[in-house]
Amino acid sequence: MRELAELLQTGQVSSTELVIACLEQIKQTDGVINAFLTVDEQGALEQAAQSDARRARGEALSPWDGIPVAIKDNISTRGLRTTCASRILRNYHPVYDATVVERLKQAGLPILGKTNLDEFAMGSSTEYSAFGVTKNPHDPARVAGGSSGGSAAAVAAGQVPWALGTDTGGSIRQPSSFCGVVGLKPTYGRVSRYGVVALAPSLDQVGPLAKTVEEAAALFSLIAGEDPRDATSAGAPAFQVPRWNAAVVQGLRVGVPEEFFSSGLNAEVEAAVRRSLRTLEEQGAVLKPISLATNDYAIDTYLTLVTAEASSCLARFDGVRYGERVAAPDANTMFAKTRGAGFGAEVKRRIMLGTYVLSASHYEAYYEQAQRVRTLIKLEIARAFEQVDVIITPTTPSTAFRIGEKRNPLEMYLSDLYTATANLSGICALSLPCGYDSQGLPIGLQIMGDHYQEELVFQVGRVVEASVERGPKVEV
Ligand code: GLN
Repeated sequence: MRELAELLQTGQVSSTELVIACLEQIKQTDGVINAFLTVDEQGALEQAAQSDARRARGEALSPWDGIPVAIKDNISTRGLRTTCASRILRNYHPVYDATVVERLKQAGLPILGKTNLDEFAMGSSTEYSAFGVTKNPHDPARVAGGSSGGSAAAVAAGQVPWALGTDTGGSIRQPSSFCGVVGLKPTYGRVSRYGVVALAPSLDQVGPLAKTVEEAAALFSLIAGEDPRDATSAGAPAFQVPRWNAAVVQGLRVGVPEEFFSSGLNAEVEAAVRRSLRTLEEQGAVLKPISLATNDYAIDTYLTLVTAEASSCLARFDGVRYGERVAAPDANTMFAKTRGAGFGAEVKRRIMLGTYVLSASHYEAYYEQAQRVRTLIKLEIARAFEQVDVIITPTTPSTAFRIGEKRNPLEMYLSDLYTATANLSGICALSLPCGYDSQGLPIGLQIMGDHYQEELVFQVGRVVEASVERGPKVEV
């Protein structure tokens, strides 16, 4: 992005030209990829023209003024359709911008459009979108991952330089890993959730997806920071792109949790991650085997909490204020018909599970118990960060799977095996490509850092990135 910023600054390219190039690439590739649910051609061109005019007057709002961005379609954009990839919201136009969108506009970024996702961000493959699957640009027979599959595929396919996603249990990192791009799940509370359609408010975070670590850091710097409109926004400092310093890895204590390298992990994924770990060691890092035994309970805990919170959050989609109404003679029938017609199977499954774990007779056995285990997970992570500076693992147990391959929901949930712990404990975690398997599919490496350690995580990510060979070029 530094290159694009320089080209804009020196007048070698205009924002309008960038937006036109993106629109052209979308036209050429999105018939296959299906990364976008809405392309705002007119709006993006208008914003680009304004950006060009600002620059001509010497009044650029930021170094990135004029670089287009795409937004996951569960983040509110004023006047621009926001569907959450659900039939129930197919004609919903928010009346306000999410704080993150407002901030990107204040930095001068034209909003190119809204990207596909699993319905209400529930899923790991974007197959649960009501508007069709997003294909992986490295192999269109495979999934892009999810739930931010549209954002990851759009960046990987060169349709847009960078994009926003959301991550509740892995939804930025897993598709980043599958599509060979860089994605950050920020520390809980560091980025505003105001205007983001909640899946599970105690876990959700918005984060950047981009081609390189530096670009992801730049986009993160535009969205991070306190927001009085979000009660869970922490009083944490804003973020500035750091001065890059490869020396950070000297003496760096890298935790390598054995539980994340156990059976079920694809051998090629393991080999690539271990290769990057060795490279870090050669550059002066100290690898420390650690144990995160509670990870065995992460998926169960995550699912109990995510379904509970989702069942409550999604109650608002009932055809009264939110949701496309199906007419019926009385209110209860109207609610039932509206929700029956508007929600897909996975959403219904989670609402039922969540209602069950919150019900009076099961609350203690499931919801309360899951909260206890969550506390144990947090404590174990806190203890780990007393001994190490970062924790490195694979992002996912495998590379991108085939469309239609995972029919059983439980199999799908296992995609989050290595990612849910960061959400449950609130820490930050970055995924970046660290190689390719024998089929040319990208492999993702995850760097977890303690609360508010994004800068360190990016620094280490940049060193890993520099040691990784560029993979096969994406042909779409
Ligand atoms: N794949 C996970 C799920 O299905 C994560 C979703 C997310 O992070 N939004 O819940």
